[in-house]
Amino acid sequence: MLAMDTKTKVQNTSTKNDNDMVVAALPVACADEKAAVEFLEAQRWGDHPACPHCGDLDVYQMKDAKTGERQVNFRWRCHGCKEQFTVRVGTVLEDSRIPFRHWCYGFWRASTSKKGVSALEIKRHTGLSYKSALFMLQRIRFAMEDTPSGKLHGDVEVDEVYIGGRPRYKGVSKRGRGTKKTPVLALVERSGGRVRAQVLPNITGKTLRKAITEQVDQASRIHTDELGGYVGIGKYFDGGHVTVRHAAGEYAKGDITTNRV
Ligand SMILES: [Zn+2]
Repeated sequence: MLAMDTKTKVQNTSTKNDNDMVVAALPVACADEKAAVEFLEAQRWGDHPACPHCGDLDVYQMKDAKTGERQVNFRWRCHGCKEQFTVRVGTVLEDSRIPFRHWCYGFWRASTSKKGVSALEIKRHTGLSYKSALFMLQRIRFAMEDTPSGKLHGDVEVDEVYIGGRPRYKGVSKRGRGTKKTPVLALVERSGGRVRAQVLPNITGKTLRKAITEQVDQASRIHTDELGGYVGIGKYFDGGHVTVRHAAGEYAKGDITTNRV
């Protein structure tokens, strides 16, 4: 429901109960900027903040030199690509200076009011200009609309990809030197064409199973490569599990393919 990403749906994994908890937490996040930023960061990244530029998990919060507290602009910096970012980057919050707490208020009202929220109400409550309120509301509607509520179903192709890996220093290859790339699970629903992407802390069987069962309806058939972590996933789906042997250069076996992912 609160997916903020414009390009990927990293935060699309929440169930109804999760959503209730999210909505309950929102009024607190509307109260001050720090609470709002922390709420949005938790929604987007959970326990694994990742650089939106290169995907590296090796990131840190920038601190104010005088106070030692977190900077008031809530910036992060990436050890991998040296870029700075905030939770706005790559989301519907991007390219705006609207305070985080007002975004939270907008998301909260948009998710709780039966008739929907108007730009005028947002203007009155937040003190934003009507123009800014309207801009924010359009972005919020986009984020919420664009989030399919149901799980993927039918034939679903699942594959894991890694993001990150730009050299840490120019001219020095990062390869083979403790690279810290981010595994991302990509899922594509063949019939509907819906796509989900989810950042994973690792690619163990347990993590993969949890992510896939959260995203995919039980009646589906799962298509994957032959990675060990997928072994046994068929037990959880009525349509079972079929594999493609990427290692052998076999990228399509009849209609069994993960090329789409
Ligand atoms: Zn980076």
